[in-house]
Order: sequence, then structure tokens, then C-alpha cells
Amino acid sequence: MSLAEHWRSARVPVAGVHLDSAACSRQSNAVIDAAATHARHEAEVGGYVAGEAAAPALDAGRAAVRALAGMPDAEVVYTTGSNHALDLFLSSWTGPRTVACLPGEYGPNLAILAANGFQVRTLPADEMGRLRVGEATAVLEAHPSALVHLTVLASHRGIVQPLTEFAPVCRALGLPLVVDAAQGLGHVDCAVDADVLYTSSRKWLAGPRGVGALAVRPEVYGRLSPRWAPLEMREANIGARLGFSLALGEHLAAGPVAVRTRLAEVGRLTRTVLAEVPGWQVIEPVDEPTALTTLRPTNGAGPTAVRAKLIAEHQIVTTACEVERAPGEMDGAVLRVSPHVDGGVEDLERLAEALVAVG
Ligand SMILES: *Cc1c(COP(=O)(O)O)cnc(C)c1O
Repeated sequence: MSLAEHWRSARVPVAGVHLDSAACSRQSNAVIDAAATHARHEAEVGGYVAGEAAAPALDAGRAAVRALAGMPDAEVVYTTGSNHALDLFLSSWTGPRTVACLPGEYGPNLAILAANGFQVRTLPADEMGRLRVGEATAVLEAHPSALVHLTVLASHRGIVQPLTEFAPVCRALGLPLVVDAAQGLGHVDCAVDADVLYTSSRKWLAGPRGVGALAVRPEVYGRLSPRWAPLEMREANIGARLGFSLALGEHLAAGPVAVRTRLAEVGRLTRTVLAEVPGWQVIEPVDEPTALTTLRPTNGAGPTAVRAKLIAEHQIVTTACEVERAPGEMDGAVLRVSPHVDGGVEDLERLAEALVAVG
């Protein structure tokens, strides 16, 4: 069975066309069952007893995050998502509050940095928003910041940042590297042993909503000072964490390299099929190895209205990304198309026709 067939057969049939994995992938039936089974177990034996019994499965999820992040000794903390992970880390950071990041940094991350009193310096990037590693090295040598923050794959554009090249630079300069892998983990190679990495369950890893993880190297973890409680919230939806653990296990079983290769193929297919749609322009290079594609309107269409019509009239789910997602880089809203490994040409052709129909 191909990866695509395996993916589809593990899930309920989709109603319409799902092209929205960058927002929220479709969970497998096994992941849904893991969360539901745990809720039933809580009802049988009591929430705290069931929680203790769940510890080994939760630890397996932590081990999977360590493996995918290439951080063998990291402390892994369950969070409610990526924003929560970043806020937990920054609010516990005891060093100076300066950070370097890309011009295309995720808007909510900039808000969380500001809320935690961080001063932000921008690193050099090319026209596509890709980090210029050589120039960035020189900037950081001349003006080191206390932290370097890199979003390896953005929400508003499917360009992979040169994380594998950049991580050793930060290490050599002695600057802690924090990686936003909300779109990256389970999608592109993130196993660079950064100092800190965080992610969300529901995106490419196809776990439940409302869960995420924060991984921190022990040396950095030891220097954190949480504001009021241990980093990991004790009161949580344990079933959702279990579902995330299982989704991580499914990803490892499918093979991270196989998934990555297939997602790159699906991205190429997406950009090829959508290249000729009148009124829209594909932003990413066709061969960019991601399944996240964005379309810029060239005839004045509004992505938010188009997204709504695609759902209401064609049962096609996409995302409209407004400028607030990357205020330092976007000059207008885009429509984001993000199929998973089961993405196929028929679905994309349906989207292409629907885009013409909604005008
Ligand atoms: C979705 C996303 C986030 C925020 O993740 P949540 O789980 O919603 O908090 C952060 N960074 C990027 C790049 C994202 O795409």
C-alpha cells in the first residue's frame, strides 16, 4: 500500500476536499480512539489514576519529539500549542532579552516576544524571505543577541529555512537557537539538535487540537525560572496528549524521510496544477520541498472571501492568510493550499476549477 493509500485508509472519508494540513490535518481513527479511550478510562478509574497509567505512553511521545528534533537529552514538556510553548520558554528565560529573527517572523510570535519584553533584531534574508546564512553569521558575530529564533517553515509561505546550515553557526557562536517547528516537525528535517524547539500537534503531525510540545536542552532548561509553576501544566486534557503521542508514533512508523519526500512531491504537484489558474500567482518555487503552497491574487480577489466560498460552494477547505501573519514580509493576503501525503491531482484540479468558478 502506498503512503497515500495508507493515510486515507486510516481515516474517515473526507467530506469534500481537505487542503488545509498547515492549519489542522485530519486525525487518524486510532488517534481519535486513543483520546476517547482515555476519557472512558478516566470515567472508570478516576482521572488521576488514569493519568498515572498514561505516563509511559506520554513518555513515548516525548521520546518521539526528541528523535524528530535530534535532541537526545532534551526535556520535553507538553503544552497547549506552539504559542504557549514560546511564551512558557520566554517568560522563564533569565538571560538578557534580545533576540534575532527573520523579517518574515510569524506575527503572533512577534507579539509574544514583545509581551515578554524582548528587543528584536532582524536577520538578513533574500527576496523570498530565506535566511542569508553568510550575512546572518556576520551580523551575529558583530552584534550577538541573547537568543536566535528561527521559524524553519513559516505559516504564510512554504519556503524552508536553511536550519541545518544555520544551527552549527549558532552553536559555534555560542548563541542559543530556538526553533519554531509548528509547520516544520513532521514536514521538513528539524533534527539539528537546536537548544530549544517547539511544535503543535494538529498541523503536519495530524494529532488532536490544543496540544503541543516544547523541547529544551538540559543546559538551557536548568537555567530557566518558570514564573509560577513547573513548565508542564499538570491540569490538562491528557487524552489529547495521548492522541498526540500516538500521532507522533504513527509518523515515525510511516518513516519521517518517506513522509518528507512525499510531501515535497505533493507540493510540486500542487504548484504545477495551480500555476495556470487565472487571477492567481503561485509564490513558491515549484520544487520547494514543502507541501505548503500560497497563491497571491492578481485580479483583486480577496483570499478571505474566496476561502469562505470554496467551503460553502465547493466543500474545499483552504486557509486565507492575512498580513498579520507575517507583518514584516507580507504585502497582501494570500490563499494557502496544504494537502497532506494523500494529496492528488483530482483534488487539485477541483480546486483550480473552483477558483475560476468563484471568480
Ligand atoms: C500555527 C503556528 C504557530 C502557532 O501554533 P499554535 O499551536 O496555534 O499556538 C506558530 N508558528 C507557526 C509558524 C505556525 O504556523
